[in-house]
Amino acid sequence: MQTHQFDVVIVGAGGAGMRAALESSGRTRTAVISKLYPTRSHTGAAQGGMCAALGNVEDDNPEWHTFDTVKGGDYLVDQDAATIMANEAIDAVLDLERMGLPFNRTPEGRIDQRRFGGHTRNHGEAAVRRACYAADRTGHMILQTLYQQCVKQEVAFFNEFYCLDLLLDHDLSSGEVSDGQEVRVAGVVAYELATGEIHVFRAKSVVLATGGAGKIYKTTSNAHTLTGDGMAIAYRRGLPLEDMEFFQFHPTGLAGLGILLSEAARGEGGILRNADGERFMERYAPTIKDLAPRDIVARSMANEVREGRGAGPNKDYVLLDLTHLDPAHIDAKLPDITEFARTYLGIEPYTEPVPVYPTAHYAMGGVPTNVEGEVLRNTTDVVRGLYAAGEVACVSVHGSNRLGTNSLLDINVFGKRAGISAAEFAATAPWVDLPENPSSLVVDELEEMRARPQGERISDIRRELQQTMDTNAQVFRTAESLTTCLADVRALRERYSRASVQDKGRAFNTDLLEALELGFLIDIAEVVVVGALNRRESRGGHFREDYPNRDDAGFMEHTMAYRRPAGTVVDSPAAPAPAGEEIPDPAPGELAVVLGTKPVVTTVYQPMERKY
Ligand SMILES: Cc1cc2nc3c(=O)[nH]c(=O)nc-3n(C[C@H](O)[C@H](O)[C@H](O)COP(=O)(O)OP(=O)(O)OC[C@H]3O[C@@H](n4cnc5c(N)ncnc54)[C@H](O)[C@@H]3O)c2cc1C
Repeated sequence: MQTHQFDVVIVGAGGAGMRAALESSGRTRTAVISKLYPTRSHTGAAQGGMCAALGNVEDDNPEWHTFDTVKGGDYLVDQDAATIMANEAIDAVLDLERMGLPFNRTPEGRIDQRRFGGHTRNHGEAAVRRACYAADRTGHMILQTLYQQCVKQEVAFFNEFYCLDLLLDHDLSSGEVSDGQEVRVAGVVAYELATGEIHVFRAKSVVLATGGAGKIYKTTSNAHTLTGDGMAIAYRRGLPLEDMEFFQFHPTGLAGLGILLSEAARGEGGILRNADGERFMERYAPTIKDLAPRDIVARSMANEVREGRGAGPNKDYVLLDLTHLDPAHIDAKLPDITEFARTYLGIEPYTEPVPVYPTAHYAMGGVPTNVEGEVLRNTTDVVRGLYAAGEVACVSVHGSNRLGTNSLLDINVFGKRAGISAAEFAATAPWVDLPENPSSLVVDELEEMRARPQGERISDIRRELQQTMDTNAQVFRTAESLTTCLADVRALRERYSRASVQDKGRAFNTDLLEALELGFLIDIAEVVVVGALNRRESRGGHFREDYPNRDDAGFMEHTMAYRRPAGTVVDSPAAPAPAGEEIPDPAPGELAVVLGTKPVVTTVYQPMERKY
């Protein structure tokens, strides 16, 4: 075991982690540990854009952006956070421009902007051009730009190091630490892929920036590595996860594959059609049609298919039509995604419509933070020195449905804020001692998994997990489908406890790490499903067919999921479910997902019916 000491340790080298590192490495000794080489992070796969009310091509202002974000999130957004994000968006874009990011330009040389779903002028009057972009490679450009700046600033990177545990000075998982008591972070434990060696990083501040968890689903736009590690690590250490039942399904995944075709395709004029050639979004969102927010478009598409108007031999997808656009325009603005259609489906987008269907895309929920990036351990207390930013976090600017281009913005605005907060805290805070035997939990888990001579195959369990989530916890949900899903997830957890890996070696044992990632996925899936069962209403990305309306009286509140012994009373507990709708208990001896709530911060915009 090796031990390292840094003032600030950032876990994750995507957009959020590197944006934080740029702030903190100038101020304190900072390390970034990442399971991937930084430029392979999923931020690099982002296509369409990053929004800011620059008003470069059309009249716009941050107040409209805030309103759109709140309405898009179906009023579950914390409005103080959304206001900060919209106000700081302009500087976030200009910061990147000064770092050298090659944004597309208007003929006058300004940063160009394109349309994206749910972004409107004057509170819904018409779609507005708010997304700054670099063709359909915006995330790639952001990631490369931030990495170059980090290299220039000599940030210490530990690449291909897997963080497997978070060290706190109190054990929160028992539920016995009282409210108000100070809890501090002490560091993290990581596993070095190349050697199999364990590294303990002692730190005054830790920033979690590990990205999303899309791999709980089979059909997803997310990379293989998006396994919710940071969320699960925090959750296992007794920290709550917020609003995990809200998962975004992006309307336009390549049918049958889930590979993403950016909403930029519709922003540039693409139209969704059913098998009859009808532009069906005119029926569902008469004002902004194909540029309605993603939850509405995804649901409308799924509905077209259910009602028999799907295209293709099995009538199981709809069509994204770009054929009316000038091929030169397509080549200039959408070069990569049209190439995906050619490569993966053999479709020529100049002349043929592209088969598309919703694909699991984005976790609205995550590790709860305040607007400074500090992680909450209940509705009010923070863990001192612990921060989170990016898709792993829930601040909550996306509420129950994120607007396209607001995530690249979120990672820049709140990555920067978390980096500053972490560095400022570390500059003055005293050191805390590492717990005795800091790596024991990780080592035990690794050795147990390695030691099992034979057992269930990890890939089988993962496939079945993803399949049940796709079938039962997707765009449409019911108590019945979710109860089935929960039983499946728990049965898979039991099988997982008997799983073994084929590779027993130490060097580059990706087999072993995938096994650990599957453990994280199972935990996250259970939290998603329990939250979805409890939320007996429909809001944003969470649609319950048995409760098709939004219920502000009952559910205008954030969900806080804690891993605790069943029956533990948590801060601000969730109301008990009505008779007949109780959430089934876990197996005896298992820790339960215990639900609490947190109030939504509403400053200006009172909830209204959501129409587009
Ligand atoms: C295909 C696609 C297209 C998208 N397009 C857009 C778009 O146009 N506009 C928009 O706003 N949003 C878009 N999004 C969403 C957006 O890209 C992501 O939400 C955002 O980039 C996440 O950034 P992040 O820094 O939080 O995480 P990531 O970029 O995913 O980085 C996570 C980092 O954490 C590290 N990590 C994870 N687990 C561990 C561990 N256990 N130990 C150590 N390190 C770990 C990884 O190595 C990686 O460096 C898109 C997403 C996808 C999938």
